[in-house]
Amino acid sequence: MISSKHRPTVATVDLNAIRANVEAVQKHIPQRAKTFAVVKANAYGHGSIEVSKALLPIVDGYCVSNLDEALELRQAGISKEILVLGIVLPEEIDLAKKEKITLTVANLDWLKEANQKDIDLKGCHVHLKIDSGMGRIGLRTLEEADQLIANLLEAEVKVDGIFTHFATADEADNQKFTEQLQFFTDLVGALAYKPAMVHASNSATSLWHSDTIFNAVRLGIVIYGLNPSGHALELPYPLKAALSLETAIVQVKKINAGDTVGYGASYKAKEEEIVATLPIGYADGWTRDLQGFHVLVDGQFCEIIGRVSMDQTTIRLPKYYPIGSKVTLIGQEAEQVITATDLADQKGTINYEVLCLLSDRIPRYYKN
Ligand SMILES: *Cc1c(COP(=O)(O)O)cnc(C)c1O
Repeated sequence: MISSKHRPTVATVDLNAIRANVEAVQKHIPQRAKTFAVVKANAYGHGSIEVSKALLPIVDGYCVSNLDEALELRQAGISKEILVLGIVLPEEIDLAKKEKITLTVANLDWLKEANQKDIDLKGCHVHLKIDSGMGRIGLRTLEEADQLIANLLEAEVKVDGIFTHFATADEADNQKFTEQLQFFTDLVGALAYKPAMVHASNSATSLWHSDTIFNAVRLGIVIYGLNPSGHALELPYPLKAALSLETAIVQVKKINAGDTVGYGASYKAKEEEIVATLPIGYADGWTRDLQGFHVLVDGQFCEIIGRVSMDQTTIRLPKYYPIGSKVTLIGQEAEQVITATDLADQKGTINYEVLCLLSDRIPRYYKN
């Protein structure tokens, strides 16, 4: 989708906030731990190249979800280690080797398939993934891990790391987390060959279990300044939301009692009201379930009335404001703030999804 630059709807990303958030976490985790910035999904909607470049001096590497996201960073001139967290098809091993991209190996079948297809694994860099209870990708037993590592070493693959991922590090109840941690610790301790890098910490683990970090962390949502738990757990130290989303009023009108607004005529004015139209809609990731939520105009909350359309949203104003007046959709205005977590609460989802859904139609501008 083409970025719509000739429209007042813009997302601004504060790169100082991004750097400060990483430094805040680094101050609270053991010195020896390496930092990997998780910049998958276009850096959670913030722009992967810009975010990765801003973090270059203070991180040890990057994590992405697939090979294309890794190639995007390489093409932008980023030469630090990049780990692909998802499974890459064996057919792509050559490309990964050529671009020095580290792959995740999560099961024995992957290696079998590579061997069947006569793919040369020599020189490929990998991390092993252990499924300690997340149930997605990864090996589930010590025997399998030992066997896979032995086979990889035999094929002259560089087994640089081993990692796992927690399912409940962002919850108050620690039982499942403790079980996963124990399983992974025991497995790593018993390996016949232990890779140099051992990592298990996403943002939530880095924030609330900083005593259990192995020797690297994978920081995602905290980089962008948001609480991985939503409101469930309090942040142990402050973070700054890096992204704000703004637009401007493109039309203002007075409607009469009984007049309706939007598709389905789902909103009916109770009295004479002032309605403004905003150039943003569900094609921007500003989804229909935001009807009834609010935006900020001149430091005041204004309700989103009527259905959100593909490209337009209507709000009720407390008084007349001219065309071009600034509207804050995510961010601060005077004493008031709307966060991605507030939007997530309205939508019944998590702040991660709110940010990732902001589409490419919204241009991203960078501060600092
Ligand atoms: C996305 C992801 C992360 C980052 O998670 P956050 O909660 O955003 O810190 C870390 N590890 C893996 C395996 C992931 O898929």
